[in-house]
Amino acid sequence: MSEVLVLVDHVGGEVRKSTLELLTIAKPLGEPVAVFIGDAAAGEAAAGRLGEYGAEKVLVASDPAYSEYLVAPHAELLANLIETRQPAGVLVPATADGREIAARAAVRTNSGVITDANAVADGFVATQSVFAGSYTVTGRVIKGTPIVAVKPNSVAPEANAGAGTVETVDFAPSDAAKTAKIVSVEEKPASGRPQLTEAPIVVSGGRGTNGDFGPVEELADALGAAVGASRAAVDAGWYPHANQVGQTGKTVSPQLYVAAGISGAIQHRAGMQTSKNIVAINKDDEAPIFELADFGVVGDLFQVLPQATEAVKAR
Ligand code: FAD
Repeated sequence: MSEVLVLVDHVGGEVRKSTLELLTIAKPLGEPVAVFIGDAAAGEAAAGRLGEYGAEKVLVASDPAYSEYLVAPHAELLANLIETRQPAGVLVPATADGREIAARAAVRTNSGVITDANAVADGFVATQSVFAGSYTVTGRVIKGTPIVAVKPNSVAPEANAGAGTVETVDFAPSDAAKTAKIVSVEEKPASGRPQLTEAPIVVSGGRGTNGDFGPVEELADALGAAVGASRAAVDAGWYPHANQVGQTGKTVSPQLYVAAGISGAIQHRAGMQTSKNIVAINKDDEAPIFELADFGVVGDLFQVLPQATEAVKAR
């Protein structure tokens, strides 16, 4: 069975959920092989978890260049693995780095690349949702090795026992790949909340908050949820862009999505419409968000959210 390379997304060795999703997608396509770029000991430590989700092998590449330079050395490594191992295809997370690595590796190997897929079927047929979800496009790479960047939260990760055998990759990136050096990395102060794209519950606020995200954050904290925001709220400077949900923000697909004071514009829906349960709170009973919602509350979010928070805390 041909290998399917899965680029591991991790923070200091802690594997992100999006990687487990990629391994789940890889399983029916071939033999999942995880590519871990980073500290060797962290790679060995991560192998167990990667194996639990189906990785038969974990290739660990730990040249110092990967942490000293921006993504070009990662792309060179991936291109080298494509040339030497001739996999059936490559899956990468559709993050900013993942997309850039995919594009660079595709150029180096004369391969086709598909970005922002939300499903990959037999034969590496990739599905994309375009124009804010108005069209579904299926496509297939017809040149070289298919490289597909898959959006986080496209599938639920499934445990699938794989051997998780660690193989060290001795590949030293060339000087030509060492083009942009990392000068400093600033860690944002931890909010204490889960990552927006990984959280099982997201509570989002829109223009209806009128700039006061207090009730949104309080409900989020009572539920252990991440906080999202509509573009109107972000553009007004009420919440950081990193929290924006939608076409030009993040795509989320939690078990529960609470939209408070959000009208439900198509560009917002594009980022949250695959949520398993959607609860909308809006004082306009004709707001389009109610067409999508599983549960709707017509009311003022400044009254509804505190009551919901109290009810959650009382449980
Ligand atoms: P509004 O549409 O103004 O809705 C506010 C809602 O709050 C209303 O329904 C109102 O009834 C309700 N409300 C007001 N007060 C209260 C209250 N006290 N209690 C309860 N309800 C209340 N938008 C995104 O969100 N994400 C994107 O990524 C995105 N990308 C875009 C990309 C492009 C190219 C374009 C053109 C637009 C994009 N937009 C995006 C913008 C989008 O079209 C909408 O303008 C935006 O989503 C509206 O945000 P909103 O729902 O918060 O505001």
